[in-house]
Amino acid sequence: MGHVFPRHTKSKLPTAVAGDGCYIFDQNGKRYLDACCGAAVSCLGHSDQIVQEAIKSQTDKLSFAHSGFFTSEPAEALADLLIANAPEGIDRVYFVSGGSEAVEAALKLARQYHLERGDDQRSHVIARWQSYHGNTIGALSAGGNKWRREPFMPMLVPMSHIDPCYPYRDQYEGESDEAYGLRAANRLEAEILKIGAESVSAFICEPVVGATMGAVAAAPGYLKRIREICDQYGVLLILDEVMCGMGRTGTLFACEHDEVAPDIVCIAKGLGAGYQPIGAMLCSKGIYSAIENGSGFFQHGHTYQAHPMACAAGLAVLTSMLERDLITNVRHRSEQLMNALTDTFGQHPHVGDIRGRGLFIALELVKDRDTKEPFDPALVIHARIKKAAFELGLMCYPMPGTIDGKNGDHILLAPPFIIEDQHIDEIVDKLSQSFSMLDE
Ligand code: PMP
Repeated sequence: MGHVFPRHTKSKLPTAVAGDGCYIFDQNGKRYLDACCGAAVSCLGHSDQIVQEAIKSQTDKLSFAHSGFFTSEPAEALADLLIANAPEGIDRVYFVSGGSEAVEAALKLARQYHLERGDDQRSHVIARWQSYHGNTIGALSAGGNKWRREPFMPMLVPMSHIDPCYPYRDQYEGESDEAYGLRAANRLEAEILKIGAESVSAFICEPVVGATMGAVAAAPGYLKRIREICDQYGVLLILDEVMCGMGRTGTLFACEHDEVAPDIVCIAKGLGAGYQPIGAMLCSKGIYSAIENGSGFFQHGHTYQAHPMACAAGLAVLTSMLERDLITNVRHRSEQLMNALTDTFGQHPHVGDIRGRGLFIALELVKDRDTKEPFDPALVIHARIKKAAFELGLMCYPMPGTIDGKNGDHILLAPPFIIEDQHIDEIVDKLSQSFSMLDE
């Protein structure tokens, strides 16, 4: 043991040996409540019999057939089911192996779409600060997390970033939520005009920002105005639902809350739910037909894309989610978890904000609740809370505040859709014990 290149090279990680429902067990039999699904992945919990059976049965039939030669039954069935439940206009699915790959595919598809229509100038992508879109170099270029980007500058893709819609941090006293949403969205129009609309290919954002800002949903009307701006200037709207999609926010696609249909949408984590690595990029008929009527094929490809076993797992996950009506359960448990967190931490001097949608909820930790001043980043509050909670047998997803002090540390909760009363009690109790260090 010890030769796996660990993600955090200095830390010695326990060995995960088993999973059952909402729990993971290590080599010593210690139990961890997975209150973040790793990174919003294991939405059906661990050891789901239906998904495991589906994978086994697919292995017996066919494990791999290269997508350059064949499509497969599970890939076709999963694509049909996704489209039947997707936002209006979404008509084609391109399977990949994860979130970054889905984002890369989306960025390339947007570019190719413009090229197919005879427009070779539209290469610039606009994204938002404090967002995360993946770790491959194209997706990293779109990401707006300065400390992740800086070591790898210069980026390879021409991109620029606008400030996100961040109701807790943006000052908008005296303005309605709707007026603020509109104003924040207009930052995109200003950026398009600055770059020159004729050069802009796409705008990419997460409908509910996950990892980097902590479950921040946009203000009312924000995404609708974004949609209008994109339409007005011929810019494609790419929604990154890798983390917030697949039922996580209480609707299958997070953008359903905003009643907005994207041109391209990326999903991943909850699609394979931890049983298989899979992601997908879905696009509208308009985009697909521009390519179909042009060069005829998407200039992209990955060896393992549309892997039959990954698609069989995704199909079982989505079928199970829909048949068991787990998304309704997400909404129900969300209310319960949010109430429990508000009861316990609502007046906590260092909890500035408790926010989120569905089972995608974060607490933003601040030095001073009244001024919203973040903790000194050198205190690495997020990492210490994660460690304390982990020692108590609770997994939560921590993120530092931004280096430029734009937001505080936060703790993201994204538990499995199957959580019950006792799990909610355990989350709040163990989090409360972990927070005791903030009083020191
Ligand atoms: N987009 C978003 C919004 C994400 O949260 C992530 C992963 N945290 C990714 C893209 C990248 O996904 P992956 O790690 O599967 O490549």
